[in-house]
Amino acid sequence: RVTQLDIRPQPPEKEDKLSVWPYWATKMRTSSSQAEGAEREFQVATLEFIGEDGALTGVKCCEVDEKRKPIAGTEFVIRADLAFIAIGFAGPAAVGPVSELAGQMKIAIDSRRSNNVEANDRDYKTSVENLYAAGDVRRGQSLVVWAIREGRQAARSIDEALMGSSVLPR
Ligand SMILES: Cc1cc2nc3c(=O)[nH]c(=O)nc-3n(C[C@H](O)[C@H](O)[C@H](O)COP(=O)(O)OP(=O)(O)OC[C@H]3O[C@@H](n4cnc5c(N)ncnc54)[C@H](O)[C@@H]3O)c2cc1C
Repeated sequence: RVTQLDIRPQPPEKEDKLSVWPYWATKMRTSSSQAEGAEREFQVATLEFIGEDGALTGVKCCEVDEKRKPIAGTEFVIRADLAFIAIGFAGPAAVGPVSELAGQMKIAIDSRRSNNVEANDRDYKTSVENLYAAGDVRRGQSLVVWAIREGRQAARSIDEALMGSSVLPR
């Protein structure tokens, strides 16, 4: 059995094009895989993974309100031996170089944008001298063209800082 959990409410069967244009219209979509038999739970959050001897045995969940806050008394457990986390880009890993730098070097973090590293899109300098950030780690999950552009502009900024001027294109 496959159960798909979604923290958002169940979307309507028909989209309201006028209220969402020009964005991707929200409506209930069912893929061929879901049609084959996946159960879907909406407005549900994962609270905890439950395990025995290092192996997953269940997922503790609860219902959430419109602000995605858990509703007390609605907890339930889904028996599970495998869990896939597919929540999109959730920011730089909580454990890893960014959090280590944040701890050791007090690098500024953009808390409004998934804890990305804070740097502007002119010189790409972070709050730590000689440390630059470009691409997804600064901008958040995005497109490869932005990563390439930011990488090139950051390279120019670094060149300017090292040489006093840069021959690289803007
Ligand atoms: C599944 C998926 C599909 C996508 N599809 C598209 C698409 O169709 N079109 C599109 O334009 N964009 C797409 N993107 C987004 C695109 O891939 C990214 O925006 C882009 O790759 C970001 O480039 P980046 O250089 O900022 O980061 P990344 O490409 O993530 O590069 C970061 C690098 O840092 C390395 N790294 C991490 N930690 C360390 C460490 N401690 N030490 C040394 N190296 C480290 C990583 O191994 C990685 O090579 C997709 C992304 C994903 C995840």
